[in-house]
Amino acid sequence: MIAHRGASGYLPESTLPAKALAAGMGADYVEHDVVMTRDDRLLINHDLWLDNVSDVAERFPGRERADGHFYVIDFDLDEILSLSVTERFTVVDGRAVAVFPDRFPVWQSHFAFHTLEDEIEFLQGLRHSSGRDVGMFTELKSPWFHEQEGKDLSAAVYDVLARYGYRTPESRCRVMSFDAHALQRIRAEVGPAAGVDVPLTQLICRTEGHETYERMPDGTWENYDYDWMLQPGGMERIREWADGIGPDVRMLLRHGEPMAAGELAGWAHDAGLYVTPWTVRADDLPHCAPSLQALVRLLADECAVEGIITDFPDLVIEALA
Ligand code: CA
Repeated sequence: MIAHRGASGYLPESTLPAKALAAGMGADYVEHDVVMTRDDRLLINHDLWLDNVSDVAERFPGRERADGHFYVIDFDLDEILSLSVTERFTVVDGRAVAVFPDRFPVWQSHFAFHTLEDEIEFLQGLRHSSGRDVGMFTELKSPWFHEQEGKDLSAAVYDVLARYGYRTPESRCRVMSFDAHALQRIRAEVGPAAGVDVPLTQLICRTEGHETYERMPDGTWENYDYDWMLQPGGMERIREWADGIGPDVRMLLRHGEPMAAGELAGWAHDAGLYVTPWTVRADDLPHCAPSLQALVRLLADECAVEGIITDFPDLVIEALA
């Protein structure tokens, strides 16, 4: 069981307290997203920007880009560490409104950002003190965007993984990305150069989500087409550079049933790929799943997934038991 951004159903996502709670609840892994700052530090944060989980708009007015977002890559780490972090919100009529109203209250208590190194030292320290060896599902957040900005996110993350001893397939770390080109480059060049060979997960989403852009031969950037991954033969192709897939949990279901008895998961398993879908949320279930428990049973029993990425580690553990 993989705790998505920590036990984010209960505490502000991505924070160290959320990771601690996940570990305490018995998570096998924590999932996190890595983004690079202006001064090339590696920040744990889900988005490329800071504005939906912090007070950056108040603290640094005028530092947003034309799209209104305050990008991590436009700030130095010390500026980011000076911000207050809170439960995810959107701004409606100038007011912060919680995305998940029943979760931790927005602007309550105090939370802060931290780096990938902080998180690794936290988990390794916890292993020392408790014997609980919580691993990492490390997502490289939009390597293509970092490339556009002149930064090599993959190489920077692999340098840190090597330094902290995550070097072999048995290490408690799996690297994930939606960016297939980045994963291909990691397998061929970045991993070998760093002396790191950890399992790679190809994340899959809908093409229309505009999650990933790819550079065309003429230098322009186009929306990456994921459709081929969901066709017969797609999984065999992914196997050339990845060890597993991370599909949207909805891709494994069809009208409340596993796709023809877990069709996509079956294809992946036949190709030798593990399957770790995202994201099981008690407060945002697929419309075809009557309960979190029913969803977990479907994923575990019908689709035989190897891991479930969830905001609610305790509920998934309970459902699996
Ligand atoms: Ca993620």
